[in-house]
Amino acid sequence: MKNKNNSAPPKKSETGTRAGNAGVYPVFERFHSWQGEGAHAGRSAFFIRLFGCPIRCAWCDSAGTWGDVPPASLENLSAETLAAEAAAARPDFVVVTGGEPAIRDLSPLCAALRSRGLRVHLETSGAFPIRGDFDWIALSPKTARLPLAENWARASELKIIVSRPEDIAFWSEKIARERVAPDAPIWLHPEWSQRENSAVLDAISAQVRARGFPFRAGWQLHKLYAVR
Ligand code: SF4
Repeated sequence: MKNKNNSAPPKKSETGTRAGNAGVYPVFERFHSWQGEGAHAGRSAFFIRLFGCPIRCAWCDSAGTWGDVPPASLENLSAETLAAEAAAARPDFVVVTGGEPAIRDLSPLCAALRSRGLRVHLETSGAFPIRGDFDWIALSPKTARLPLAENWARASELKIIVSRPEDIAFWSEKIARERVAPDAPIWLHPEWSQRENSAVLDAISAQVRARGFPFRAGWQLHKLYAVR
């Protein structure tokens, strides 16, 4: 059955910037730190955070990437420049994130990173076609714009943001209807502002106890350490 979402690439009005040259990306920030979430938590990672996201979740922790008007600090950098910086940091892997990085063609960036022997991870909502060759895809679905069917199937892991206990049942039922890889962990992360909400934490614990794998209780470790 055809997915209800439009699997065409995003419109220019959704990218947050005017169309640029192929292989040149609006970079909100890039830095060497470590992965704070998911199956690769605790590992050295170089993050490339691209500008632009048309989804606009109420609790977004990177809302600075949304803007209709790019910030003055925004840099347009080539895939080769980003790959050279990432390689110099000697991370375990590179994380391409946002914003929503998949609103852009990430193929040139992946190719440049791979040419330097770097493994490439993607963090995405899954709402747009994924263009690029990735070693790992962390898909964090959002109700405001559901993932494409093809992206559920490509996910290496799922990250569900739980802001209310009922979010767990909603996403569990949704995932059960999609072609998700059976070995893909489903992380249940308390939304950060709800991290001390016992109803949310207890609901996550109950789901993991009741269902076991692929459900896993998650946390944003980098925020505990106060690193980016
Ligand atoms: S999809 Fe991600 S970057 Fe976009 S608004 Fe939602 S949380 Fe923020």
